[in-house]
Amino acid sequence: MASLVLKDINKYYTNTFHAVKDLNLTIDDKEFIILVGPSGCGKSTSLRMIAGLEEISSGELYIDDKLVNDVEPKDRDIAMVFQNYALYPHMTVFDNMAFGLKLRKMSKEEIQTKVNEAAEILNIKELLNRKPKELSGGQRQRVALGRAIVREPKVFLMDEPLSNLDAKLRVQMRSEINKLHKKLQTTFIYVTHDQTEAMTMGTRIVVMKDGIVQQVADPQTIYEYP
Ligand code: ADP
Ligand code: ADP
Repeated sequence: MASLVLKDINKYYTNTFHAVKDLNLTIDDKEFIILVGPSGCGKSTSLRMIAGLEEISSGELYIDDKLVNDVEPKDRDIAMVFQNYALYPHMTVFDNMAFGLKLRKMSKEEIQTKVNEAAEILNIKELLNRKPKELSGGQRQRVALGRAIVREPKVFLMDEPLSNLDAKLRVQMRSEINKLHKKLQTTFIYVTHDQTEAMTMGTRIVVMKDGIVQQVADPQTIYEYP
């Protein structure tokens, strides 16, 4: 359960470089928002500000009506999945998925249950004892998703999670992420520069250019079919 309100959010990387300009957006609970636009338009910066990984220069960010500008990333109840997966190479899949839960001092039994549930959803139960280097790209991406799911975050942020996969796997993972959204019933915010992903995944698309939101609409409205 999470709604987000982004109010007049700006990001300056230096006094002069204005990466995100007056971003205003209200995201309802359970929406699947796609942030789309050319490279360098401010998509990742926006996502990172929501995650708390990048400071907001001005403006306000509310999660469930609570102002979170000064809330630490770990206290925002948000999980983020990156394009390069960021798995720990020396740890098994199980330990990669359990890592964040161990930090939260959850009991072993509870960790086992949560990791097994997530592994079931993502169809990676038979991979739990492998190391990341023994996995395919698609399997690694599932583990990265699994590591986020086990935390049961209110908001799921994804930054071009499929861009390192080959075309066939991208198609497959697109539909798996869609299923995941339906299953988890949480708010997804997904960054991509790929129009096919934007068209087939989101419930609403936010088009950015040069740090400015150009358009907010549903996929059918933005991409007209011939
Ligand atoms: P996108 O995700 O749409 O490709 P980014 O949000 O990564 O765009 O970047 C937006 C702009 O901010 C780009 O011009 C980029 O070069 C710049 N930028 C991103 N991160 C930094 C940083 N840490 N310091 C300075 N400029 C940055
Ligand atoms: P510890 O966390 O103290 O190292 P555990 O008894 O929790 O010990 O687990 C030992 C190892 O067995 C873990 O590090 C993990 O890699 C693996 N493991 C535990 N549970 C599972 C499971 N359900 N499936 C696969 N591997 C598991």
